[in-house]
Amino acid sequence: MHTQSPTAPPTSELHQIFGARFVTEGPELDRVSRDESRYQPQGIALGAVFPETTAEVCVALRWANQHGVQVSVRGTGTGLSGGALAYDHGLVLSLERMNQIVRIDPVNRLADVQAGVINADLNQAAREFGLFFAPDPASATTASIGGNIATNAGGLRCISHGVTRDSVAALEVVLADGSILHTGARTLKNVVGLDLTSLFVGSEGTLGVITSATLRLQPIAAGTPYTFRASFESIEAAGRAVTAIVNSVQTPEVLELLDARSVEIIEAYKPSSLPADGNNLLIGQFTGLQAEAMAQDTAQLCREYGAAEVVIAEGDSLLEARRLANPALSAQGLRVSCDVAVPVGQLAEVFRGIDRISQNHGRTISVVAHAGDGNLHPTVEAEDTAQGYAAAELVIEDITKLALSLGGTISGEHGIGLVKRDQLPWQLDDTARRTHQLIKHALDPKHILTARRGI
Ligand SMILES: Cc1cc2nc3c(=O)[nH]c(=O)nc-3n(C[C@H](O)[C@H](O)[C@H](O)COP(=O)(O)OP(=O)(O)OC[C@H]3O[C@@H](n4cnc5c(N)ncnc54)[C@H](O)[C@@H]3O)c2cc1C
Repeated sequence: MHTQSPTAPPTSELHQIFGARFVTEGPELDRVSRDESRYQPQGIALGAVFPETTAEVCVALRWANQHGVQVSVRGTGTGLSGGALAYDHGLVLSLERMNQIVRIDPVNRLADVQAGVINADLNQAAREFGLFFAPDPASATTASIGGNIATNAGGLRCISHGVTRDSVAALEVVLADGSILHTGARTLKNVVGLDLTSLFVGSEGTLGVITSATLRLQPIAAGTPYTFRASFESIEAAGRAVTAIVNSVQTPEVLELLDARSVEIIEAYKPSSLPADGNNLLIGQFTGLQAEAMAQDTAQLCREYGAAEVVIAEGDSLLEARRLANPALSAQGLRVSCDVAVPVGQLAEVFRGIDRISQNHGRTISVVAHAGDGNLHPTVEAEDTAQGYAAAELVIEDITKLALSLGGTISGEHGIGLVKRDQLPWQLDDTARRTHQLIKHALDPKHILTARRGI
C-alpha cells in the first residue's frame, strides 16, 4: 500500500528513453519489487526500469537524483536480506537485461561481463577455455554477477578460492548523480589510489550501481574430483574435525556441514539413502591429480575425530545432498534463518551454544554450514504465524549474539539489507558507523540509493 503520496515526479523522460522497458504497474513491477528474503516491499514503487546499457543506467539515476526518488537496485532478486526490496514511490532499477558476456580473455584469465549475467552462464562460457569463475553460491543458476559482487557472495568454494572480492579485478559503477566511475585494473597487481573496487564489493547497492565487471577466472583442475562424506553422531566432534582439516596442509575445494536435523529434512524431500538417523554429515571435495589420495587422508582424519562412517566417491554425487538443502528447507516453509560466521576454531563452541539456545527457547534449529569458512545458516522451526515468526526471530537474535561473542560476524555472505539493519550497531561501533555515513554521504548526498541499510 502507498504511504501518503509525495508530489509525483514527471516520468515522461523515463517513458521516452525506456519505452516498454519502463513498467509502472502489473505483475512485472510486483516481481521486481521483491527478493527471496522473508520481508515485503516497503510499499508500491512508481515504476521499474530495465536498462540494457550503462548510458541508460546513467539516465535513470540522474532522473532519480534530480527528483529525489529512492532507487532499489536489483540484480535477479535472489538476495536473502531484503536489499533489493522496492521503496514506496521509489524506482526499481533492474540489471537483469544487462546480461552480456562481453569477452573472455583466456591468456590473462579474465572475463568482462555486464552486471546482469547469471553466475552459472559465465561458468558455462568459461569452461570452453578450461577456466571457471570461483564464487559458487548455492544460487549460482539464478543469481547475477552484479548481485554476487554487491553482496560479496560466498558459497561452496570459499575455503579454497576466497569470496567474490577475491575474483574481482575491476568495476564500472554508475554513481547516484549519473556519473561513471571505473575502479581497479586488468593486472594482478595494482596499487594506484585507494582500493575503490573493494569499497563497492559488498556495498549492497548503497554506493552506486555496478554496471560491468572484469573478473578473474581460475583454471579447472586436472583429473577427477573426489568427494567424501563423514558421519558424526556429535556435531561438536564434526566441528572439531573441520578445524583439524582446515589446519592440515591439504585444503579441500569444498567443506560443508549438514546437521542431523537438516539431513532428515533433505532425505524427506528427496530420498537418496542419506544416513538420516541422527548423523551430522561433513561433506568435502578435493580436486587435482592428488584428489583421491587427499580424500583418503582426510577421511582418516575424520575417523580420528570420531566419524562413525566415511564414504568416498568419484565426482560430485555426494555434494548433491548439500545442494538440496535450500529447496528442502523452503519446501517445509522454513524461512527464518541467518548467516552468521565464526572463526573456524570456534565451530565446536558455536554448535554447543546453538544447542543451548534451542533448549532455552524450546525451538528446533537445523544448521547447514559452509563449515570450512566457519559460516553457518541456522534455521529455526516456527509456526507460520506472526507470533511464530516473532518467536523465531528472538532465537536468531540469540544465535547472532552468540556468534559475535565468539569473535564472529552477523553476516558471512548474505549481507545486511533490510533484515539486519537494526543489528549493525551490534558489530560496528560509533566510529565505524560514522565512517560509513561519511562515505555514503560523499557518494550519494541525497541518499537515493538503497538507503535503508542503516548507513
Ligand atoms: C536458494 C538460494 C541459495 C543461496 N545461496 C547462497 C550462497 O551459497 N552464498 C551466498 O553468498 N548467497 C547465497 N544466496 C543469496 C543470494 O543468491 C546472493 O546474495 C546473490 O549474490 C544475490 O544476487 P542477486 O543478483 O539475486 O542480487 P539481488 O537479490 O537482486 O540484490 C542483492 C543486493 O545486491 C544489490 N545489487 C544487486 N545488483 C547490483 C548491482 N548491479 N549494483 C549494485 N548493487 C546491486 C541489491 O541492491 C541488493 O542490496 C542464496 C539465495 C538463494 C535463494
